[in-house]
Amino acid sequence: MASKNKNWEYAPSLETTDHINLKKKYDLFINGKWLKPTSKKHFNTINPNDEKHIAEIAHANHKDVDIAVKSARKAYDNVWSKMPANERGKYIYRIARLMQERSKELAVVESLDAGKPIREARDIDIPLACNHFFYYAGWADKLEYAFPNRKVSPLGVAGQIIPWNFPLLMAAWKIAPALAAGNTVVLKPAETTSLTALKLAEIIADSGLPDGVVNIVTGFGDTGAAIVNHPDVNKVAFTGSTGVGKIIQKAIAGTAKKATLELGGKSANIIFDDAPLDQAIEGIVNGIFFNQGHVCCAGSRLFVQENIADRVVRKLKHRMKSLVVGNPLDKNTDVGAINSKEQLNIINKYIKIGIEEGAEIYQSECNIPKKGFFCPPTIFSNVAQSSVIVQEEIFGPVLTIQTFRTVDEVIQKANNTPYGLAAGVWTDKGSRIFNLTTKLKAGVVWANTYNKFDPSSPFGGYKESGFGREGGMHGLSAYLKLS
Ligand code: ADP
Repeated sequence: MASKNKNWEYAPSLETTDHINLKKKYDLFINGKWLKPTSKKHFNTINPNDEKHIAEIAHANHKDVDIAVKSARKAYDNVWSKMPANERGKYIYRIARLMQERSKELAVVESLDAGKPIREARDIDIPLACNHFFYYAGWADKLEYAFPNRKVSPLGVAGQIIPWNFPLLMAAWKIAPALAAGNTVVLKPAETTSLTALKLAEIIADSGLPDGVVNIVTGFGDTGAAIVNHPDVNKVAFTGSTGVGKIIQKAIAGTAKKATLELGGKSANIIFDDAPLDQAIEGIVNGIFFNQGHVCCAGSRLFVQENIADRVVRKLKHRMKSLVVGNPLDKNTDVGAINSKEQLNIINKYIKIGIEEGAEIYQSECNIPKKGFFCPPTIFSNVAQSSVIVQEEIFGPVLTIQTFRTVDEVIQKANNTPYGLAAGVWTDKGSRIFNLTTKLKAGVVWANTYNKFDPSSPFGGYKESGFGREGGMHGLSAYLKLS
């Protein structure tokens, strides 16, 4: 959907959907086969762009999870833990290559099911997901070089639970290192975005991976809880909300289960007066409006040095006018659909709170489609450190703007949050970058860029943003016993 601003009206350029192959109904992928859920229940997955039904998805209960865990255990004991590491690596390469071959289909399915702009699904999510498999395939037979002088052994069965913001990418982040390290897997995608994980199951079946090494069970929170609480799961890897992360931590307390939790964030994006401003504006836009702000590490708190604040806000508003909000399958779209009605309600609740708190709101003028779940890019200035919209994670395209005068002041303000996932620093001064990267309490600090990911870089949080790292060698160690 084109913006009201006449300068930015483009003819629609819709990606085609005739090449994708979706079943009407999906069962559970267990032991290399499609099994009907013993629960006998399926639920609908819908397209957040037009609220139309896409497919029916199985709702696994604790019995189904038990069957999946047993199949993962059998595959671990009999096949996967005994297989030479270079053979394991070959399977992971094969999955990566098959994903690449089907990348166009995966991108379209992701865009349909998650509401993600097709450009992002095509250029970021799917290539990065393939790269994770390629990267970890290379480590499978080099574990003793990754951790010299240590004895490495896999943990066993990994239970993995992922959210809806980067569905296929999160599945790749979880499955690839687990397999490379020699574990078997039971993975649950989020209830609103199961489709690309189920497509991945098809790819895994085509790759000839031994039955039971990867099992994909779909469902809601109860399915996730059944995985976490299953006594034969050795490792729990979770990405999602801090609330559920706390429930999981309590559930596994006192057990021998290992865990990695990647939780919420309220990341600071900091602009100094010597920063290249046009690039910084792109970094701000990318930091918060990318993927509708459905990014754990979204740069949702902007800190601008006081003497350039007016200029930055003026430039940012100008840039926001050119953002195209609308059909995710349109190649012109910058900001797609909010993933679900529930999430849109949460975002709107926070926008209301921001207005009630007395903050000044600006939303880019755009034609929001009548159907579907959409939220215009939104900024709030005149906010305080204690404002609810500054303190709490919104998980939508909503940015708060604060000013600062000194380095110490901005470090203190940026760190004044229960979270600590990421931060961005924009300045021309290398020494200032190093000063801030050591003092900001965040797992990732980007300098003069934002939201850049690479399979070789570890990612994870401080404080209530969780613990453990994913990506790189650190991500590998999370699936190994090192002695
Ligand atoms: P978000 O707010 O991003 O949806 P959630 O933490 O609610 O985050 O969901 C992330 C994933 O955790 C989803 O796959 C969801 O089904 C699952 N989940 C929700 N509740 C639980 C729970 N109590 N135990 C385990 N997994 C859960």
